[in-house]
Amino acid sequence: MKIAVIGGGPAGAAAAMTLAKAGIETYLIEKDLKSEKPCGGGIPCGALREFDIPDRLFERKVSKVGIIAPSGYEVLADLGDGYVGMVDRARFDPYLRERAVQAGVILIEGVFTSIEQSEKIIVNFKYGGRAESIEVDAVIAADGANSTVAKQVGAERPQLYLAVQEKVHLTGESKRFYEDRCEIWYGAGISPNLYGWVFPKADFATIGTAAPYGHGRFMDDYMAAFKKRLNGRIDGAKLLKKEAHPLPMGPIKKKVYGNVLLVGDAAGTVMPISGEGIYYGIMSGKLAAEALIKRDFASYDREWKRVYGSQFRLMTLLRQWFYKDDKWRERLVRMHEDKDAQERSMSLWLNKEKGYPIYSIYWTIFKSLIRHI
Ligand SMILES: Cc1cc2nc3c(=O)[nH]c(=O)nc-3n(C[C@H](O)[C@H](O)[C@H](O)COP(=O)(O)OP(=O)(O)OC[C@H]3O[C@@H](n4cnc5c(N)ncnc54)[C@H](O)[C@@H]3O)c2cc1C
Repeated sequence: MKIAVIGGGPAGAAAAMTLAKAGIETYLIEKDLKSEKPCGGGIPCGALREFDIPDRLFERKVSKVGIIAPSGYEVLADLGDGYVGMVDRARFDPYLRERAVQAGVILIEGVFTSIEQSEKIIVNFKYGGRAESIEVDAVIAADGANSTVAKQVGAERPQLYLAVQEKVHLTGESKRFYEDRCEIWYGAGISPNLYGWVFPKADFATIGTAAPYGHGRFMDDYMAAFKKRLNGRIDGAKLLKKEAHPLPMGPIKKKVYGNVLLVGDAAGTVMPISGEGIYYGIMSGKLAAEALIKRDFASYDREWKRVYGSQFRLMTLLRQWFYKDDKWRERLVRMHEDKDAQERSMSLWLNKEKGYPIYSIYWTIFKSLIRHI
């Protein structure tokens, strides 16, 4: 079997590596090996353990998460032995691709243009300005939120948010303040359907917010309101870069289109309540590759549903509930005062390998809400 993976982000690199390790002839086509995906780069410690990511790739490990309510009320969650790992995508993505190459993947810096899909697939791409093509048995589409492959096979598209982010250089007091903490800020004025974030790296921090695409013209206002609320915490930090990128919010139902399988942002595998997409992108890449290895392509949709279906349903429901208005956001934050609720919520983020005890989560939230309503 011969497979082409389009897109060399975390999802594509993970899929390609899994295929090559199984002895399959695998081509990974990435349009720009030097590009840096706009991203907060926050990855929970459990995921880093699962993927065996070496320490040298962490810009920072933070063991405290500041959760700030619309009123300014703040809960500082202590992660104990756990941490959120902060990676710089400019180093993280090349590392994942290099691992895939070590496993036997043939990496091509080329721009995918089109496919001709029948029993076999012809993949057309541009390589050094020339038009090239390869014939393969199946394609994994990992070409991100604006996936060209997905459009060509007529796949369902996920709901897209627009995420805007500033990279700022931290010095002095700001650098010390964010030494061991990241922050999540709630409020309709800074993000009506998600939250604002401060994720520190070694010398810089990424500060961002996101909202559904229709809010595009308000993004500058949300960012300005967010920085105002940061209230001196990043004053004087030099702006290094401003960036914006689509962020899908939740997976499409059907990810398999004949011999084309969609993974990562191309399939919308981002957790709707948190915007977390690196972990789920990598996992979707692995599941799709495993389905190809078994030569049972359709099993990818089934496996995804079996492993992640209930998590995504639960988190979509909680998002509708807690992101309704600022009163509910306030309750969400205050709920984290309760040690049990705090540990439960942080553990869901940090230790995914332990699974989602759905009913006990409902019970914890219910008990906590009773106290805060
Ligand atoms: C501002 C922002 C902040 C975020 N913060 C976080 C966070 O802190 N933690 C987290 O877990 N998630 C975060 N996310 C989400 C996360 O970045 C994505 O979910 C994740 O990158 C998905 O990986 P992927 O491999 O599916 O797609 P991508 O990382 O987007 O990779 C797609 C790849 O395909 C390539 N490509 C595209 N078109 C073509 C083509 N025609 N030919 C060849 N190659 C092509 C691109 O160059 C790219 O390398 C954030 C997203 C945004 C926008």
